[in-house]
Amino acid sequence: MNKHLEQLIELSLIDKEIDAFEPQIDEANLQYDALLATHKALLQEISNLSDEIKEEQIKKQKNELHLAELSTKIDENAKKSNDIKTEREMKALQLEEEIAKEQINFANEEIGRLEKLIDHKKTKIGDLQTRANDIDEKLIGVKAEVDVKLSHIHEARTLIFAKKETLVGAMNQKGLSFYQKIRRWAKNTTAVPVRNQACMGCYMALSDKVYAEVIRGEEITMCPHCGRLLYLEPSESTDA
Ligand SMILES: [Zn+2]
Repeated sequence: MNKHLEQLIELSLIDKEIDAFEPQIDEANLQYDALLATHKALLQEISNLSDEIKEEQIKKQKNELHLAELSTKIDENAKKSNDIKTEREMKALQLEEEIAKEQINFANEEIGRLEKLIDHKKTKIGDLQTRANDIDEKLIGVKAEVDVKLSHIHEARTLIFAKKETLVGAMNQKGLSFYQKIRRWAKNTTAVPVRNQACMGCYMALSDKVYAEVIRGEEITMCPHCGRLLYLEPSESTDA
């Protein structure tokens, strides 16, 4: 095979390998990121519940204050009842007392309801905190695993980069800029194999003349349809 063509194909394979590291890095971080997101969501929920509890405690205090006022009022009414002279006055006092008692019942019910709610939310916060703590512990282990994976990826990547540097150093500038022009739009399909006499970049059939040129491999052949570099895989050349 033409040496320049060989270099171009090798460069395209190296670039493809380099691009493949990004998803590997994302994949390695995936579990860690997911755990971190869950942890954050749990803390947010705890914070929301704590805020709700604060509001409910304020409501409870207001009801307690109201209760104290009502009981003072009932005490005052009891004192007043001694000085009552007419039936009309007595009825008015009774009515006031009934209303006050109703309000006391209502305030007590409200306090009971709020206490239940606060207890329920406190229990929920406890559960959420336990889950958050579990994740905290898990994160340490997962982080260590991720670091190992990332360092392997980093090692492999360093090797490939060195390989690319050597190759690029040996290539001529013309071939390199030709390659980069195609790669700009074709990305990882800059050099594509020919299978069943078709370009594996655009999947169009190649003429016998172009196909024969690719099989010979004496010069750099571009797909007449899409402009990608064409080459024959070793298995195809033995079939041909
Ligand atoms: Zn093509």
